[in-house]
Amino acid sequence: MYTDTEGIVLRQTKTLDGRRMITLLSPKYGKIGAGTSITEKGKGKTALALRPFTYGRYELFKSRDSFSINGAETKKSFYRIGEDVEKYMAAVYALELTEKVTQENQNSQGIFNLLLDFLQTIEKRKAKFETPLLSYQTNILKLTGTFPRLSECVICGNPVDESAENVGFSVPEGGVVCESCMKGANCTGNSDKDGLIYRIDSIIIRVLKYFSTHSIAALEKLALEEKIEKRLGSMIRDYLSYHLDVGDLKSEGFFREVKYGDYIRKD
Ligand SMILES: [Zn+2]
Repeated sequence: MYTDTEGIVLRQTKTLDGRRMITLLSPKYGKIGAGTSITEKGKGKTALALRPFTYGRYELFKSRDSFSINGAETKKSFYRIGEDVEKYMAAVYALELTEKVTQENQNSQGIFNLLLDFLQTIEKRKAKFETPLLSYQTNILKLTGTFPRLSECVICGNPVDESAENVGFSVPEGGVVCESCMKGANCTGNSDKDGLIYRIDSIIIRVLKYFSTHSIAALEKLALEEKIEKRLGSMIRDYLSYHLDVGDLKSEGFFREVKYGDYIRKD
């Protein structure tokens, strides 16, 4: 069956026989792995549409259990992402994360729109790429139904005010922990992070709420303070890993190494 779809290229790999495998995120078919005989030499403009970060239209042949790409047309190539190594690594991480959390034959319109919003925003941005990346991660949680509970304590159920102090965030329980529950047995330490329970500034709750109710493009002129950024980055990384089984992404450690000049410790 011949069909066509819009898509964003997540990855391209070469196979031993000289063909290419393209991993594509399409709104209607979800994540697709498709082979193609289109080469870099053959049809220049078509080949461009097969590179990572490209948003294009793809002519597909769908057999019972596989896809192949017969034609491709670039709608937008986010080539400026490659101008800055930190920007590039943040975008590579976003593609890798997208690949992990999407599936075949699953309507992916929401994640597709979000990824497009992210790529458009980060391409234009000059610095502070972590802020749109954190918004991307937060909205992935929302779209996959794993968004944390932020208005009431995940242990006792009491409301947690946005300006409350001494609150926590439990990764395993999936949301905020009120002050009195933070005094419970597992959370008495003075460290910032006790197991997978973080002590947080309530600004983090407000940031998560803001991200989940605004487009990434709305962050155009906004950037988080580095301290908040690091804290939220660590929390969300643990959260994604725990709830979506994302594990360690190769690109993430590399992004942080480029950004902060050292490896972030895993503890
Ligand atoms: Zn509580």
